[in-house]
Amino acid sequence: MSESCLFCRIARKEIPAGIVAETDGFLALRDIDPKAPFHVLIVPKAHVASLNDVKDAKLLGEMMRFAVSVAEDNGYAKSGYRTVINTNADGGQTVFHLHLHLLAGRRLGWPPG
Ligand code: AMP
Ligand code: ZN
Repeated sequence: MSESCLFCRIARKEIPAGIVAETDGFLALRDIDPKAPFHVLIVPKAHVASLNDVKDAKLLGEMMRFAVSVAEDNGYAKSGYRTVINTNADGGQTVFHLHLHLLAGRRLGWPPG
């Protein structure tokens, strides 16, 4: 938990966010600058700065399973979706609280830019 961290503040409900699903350990919230028709962030409530800092492999499994359930519940399991974790500068990470991007609703290009 970090006092000023944006996603910790959203998890504490200090800042409003477009929460589409929630469990005891995770939030799924709409990205404020969506890159696809459906773009949500899967955010663990506990503060972890980046993928580099994950000690608990179970957390990653639960985060992926929750992402799949959000994709299913919103009708994208069959058509498809992309899950992305950006890490540090070259990965394009801008918010230093671990999150998984879940993107769907259009044919996504590959390779990424
Ligand atoms: P990353 O660049 O991988 O660290 O992803 C951070 C994401 O958080 C970006 O896609 C931003 O658009 C998104 N973002 C930043 N502030 C907010 C916010 N207040 N609510 C929802 N998404 C946000
Ligand atoms: Zn945080």
